[in-house]
Amino acid sequence: MSSDETAPESTLPYPPIHTDKKFIVLSDWDGTITNYDSNDYMTDNLGYGKEKRREGNLSVLGGKTTFRDAFREMLESVSSNGHTFEECKELLRKNILLDTGFKQFNTWCKENDVPVIIVSSGMAPIIRAVLSNLVGDKDASEIDIIANDAVVRPNGSWEIKYRHPSSGYGHDKSQAILPYRKLPNPPTLFFFGDGVSDISAARHADVLFVKEKPGGDNDLAAYCRKHGIKHIIFEDFSRALGVVKAIVAGEKTIDEAIAAGKA
Ligand SMILES: [Mg+2]
Repeated sequence: MSSDETAPESTLPYPPIHTDKKFIVLSDWDGTITNYDSNDYMTDNLGYGKEKRREGNLSVLGGKTTFRDAFREMLESVSSNGHTFEECKELLRKNILLDTGFKQFNTWCKENDVPVIIVSSGMAPIIRAVLSNLVGDKDASEIDIIANDAVVRPNGSWEIKYRHPSSGYGHDKSQAILPYRKLPNPPTLFFFGDGVSDISAARHADVLFVKEKPGGDNDLAAYCRKHGIKHIIFEDFSRALGVVKAIVAGEKTIDEAIAAGKA
């Protein structure tokens, strides 16, 4: 687990941190804000398929390989099958939808001075394209995105460019959270996630929300159970909003919300 002292060098810039907020929402993108993980979608449909992809996820969860190396292999299986970056972007714009409660959640946060920051292991150009398509350019441009990037060559071939190539996480999400802890009056930090890419952030939030995957594989919940990390299971952002509202209004303490275990 990375700490401040061993912060990996970032190859990509960070947006300025919000220094004067009482509450901050940081959220994973794929499979958390979206209904389906776009990288899983690409790997399953254009790359080497779901079976091998799940082997990769479980290998990360079991500590046998790093997220960085497993994830790069998944995306390479898409690129090496001849699918260009533009083609992938278009496919995802057509097929990836938002969590049904996210728009309402985001609107409430905007109205109540709670910044929403996307912290993703995906590639920023794809996230921007899908987000603009779903919430409109204006709302999309107001949400900070801290993610990885892509290297796209003139011949259309592409690969992921990791924010933290020296970290086994590729993008160590804790680095988006820890600067807030150093502020003189640190805000309460809510983090939302669903999968192995969120493991680096899981321990660092004040309130960790883990998305319920109906009939699916909930890798983050499994990780939290294994390591005794307290969290709140949520079905969609409209359910989570109830808990966030109660904490922001002071009607519920963080401990009470976590003790309930479910949004
Ligand atoms: Mg995810």
